[in-house]
Amino acid sequence: MVDVKKVTKLLGEVVSPARVSDKDFDLIPYSRDLSPAKQKLPTHVVIPETREEIQGILKIANEQDVPVYVRGGGTSHWDAFLAQEPGIMLDMSKMNKIVEINERDLVATVQPNCTWAKLDRELRKQGLTYLCSEAGGPAMTIGGSVMKAGSGPHSTAKFGAHGNNDAVTLEMVLPNGDIVQTGSAAWPSAGKFERQCLGPDLAGMFIGAEGILGICTELTMRIRPATDIQERLLATMPTLDSVIEFGHFINRHVGDEYLQGVYLWVDPSAPDVFTLMMDIFGYEEEIVNHRRSKIIAKVEELGGVLGDRAPADDYFGHILTGLTDLFVAGVWHFFGSGTLRIDDIKFMYDVWKNELIGKRGYVKAGFGGQILPRRWLAFMVTNYREPEEWDELVKMCDEIDEIILDGPVVPYGVGGRDGLRNIVASRDTGYYRLLKTLKRTLDPKNILQRGIFIPEEELR
Ligand SMILES: Cc1cc2nc3c(=O)[nH]c(=O)nc-3n(C[C@H](O)[C@H](O)[C@H](O)COP(=O)(O)OP(=O)(O)OC[C@H]3O[C@@H](n4cnc5c(N)ncnc54)[C@H](O)[C@@H]3O)c2cc1C
Repeated sequence: MVDVKKVTKLLGEVVSPARVSDKDFDLIPYSRDLSPAKQKLPTHVVIPETREEIQGILKIANEQDVPVYVRGGGTSHWDAFLAQEPGIMLDMSKMNKIVEINERDLVATVQPNCTWAKLDRELRKQGLTYLCSEAGGPAMTIGGSVMKAGSGPHSTAKFGAHGNNDAVTLEMVLPNGDIVQTGSAAWPSAGKFERQCLGPDLAGMFIGAEGILGICTELTMRIRPATDIQERLLATMPTLDSVIEFGHFINRHVGDEYLQGVYLWVDPSAPDVFTLMMDIFGYEEEIVNHRRSKIIAKVEELGGVLGDRAPADDYFGHILTGLTDLFVAGVWHFFGSGTLRIDDIKFMYDVWKNELIGKRGYVKAGFGGQILPRRWLAFMVTNYREPEEWDELVKMCDEIDEIILDGPVVPYGVGGRDGLRNIVASRDTGYYRLLKTLKRTLDPKNILQRGIFIPEEELR
């Protein structure tokens, strides 16, 4: 049992009392995320401003045995930060500053709750960008994205997911209060310019761990010169095989050189129509035109038909204003999502078409994906009305997730009880055993994100 008043008093001694609350009125906004996860009320909300305050909060949490949950922008949709047990919610919103833009080394150092949108606004003033756009809307933070290895809709066949590939160095506060710098920043007399140069890639250990191994207090990210020239194409492909060949073409012939976003969409109303939307970025008009003509020639060679770019603009517009759609069409729910080899998209498509539409007669979920270096990130997505459609939908999504993950698909976004956590835990892999050993070693009292990612009973 948490002694709520005692913890409030202790927290008020390390963080200004004005930034600590245990009142229901203040806690309720922190009780939901953008997933269908049931409401979970923390006992406290605390808004730290410095790494030292976070160290103090973790000390109290360890001494009082109160779990700590970390909320970035709150836009994730798989129960990845809600208080699974009575505990402290860290609202990171005040740690949102841009620390430095270094145009010589092409890196920017930010506090974790700096949003991609805020960073890009500043970068553009200097002719720079991070290239990705903010899929989760303007609230999506850089720290939140990196902690879950997120991508954004403009992940490209060259750079991959920005929340992973663009992280150079991290500053993490460990559950015991130690502060760790990763990459070149681990060598205090050097600078923040390289991810892996001293032993193992410790940044990689924290990226995607969804906050269970440490709290991120600063990040240095790769940036690049702004690419003002952008082309957008839309093509309809005749078969999934032609889509797969196109995927290989992008990866094999042009992926390493092109800054290219390629997205597949298949609508449940026309499951045999394969729409590809593409963004081509570049620094010089002749090069962009050359890339464009090679892509058009390949689409035509594979029997595809180029379309008007307006629907593609509409698609991207919908992604970027997805939050509005969430509440008009019902809650937006992703399932059956993961990373897979270019050829294996056929497996996932067959599950979508045969298991979901064919056997279960569920015709509301679309099928989509994006091409990253040498792989797809693919998903099924639906809208539903809460609460009437929820129970049935959860049962169906669990069945589909099981089928997908028994196949060649690696789950993406693991989250808490309502995410894929239990499915991952049920595979007794060496990877999972190592993750549990790391968690036990770094966080013996299981203070940080208790119940997120690793079920508590798995750590006993
Ligand atoms: C409409 C819509 C579309 C989306 N499309 C995409 C998409 O295309 N690609 C994509 O990648 N994502 C997408 N997302 C997901 C969302 O934007 C991501 O979840 C985002 O990466 C999380 O950002 P956030 O700041 O809201 O983090 P949160 O949701 O607050 O947190 C995400 C995770 O990181 C942890 N965390 C946050 N901050 C810290 C910290 N400082 N230290 C340690 N752990 C921390 C949290 O505990 C949680 O586990 C979409 C979301 C919406 C609503």
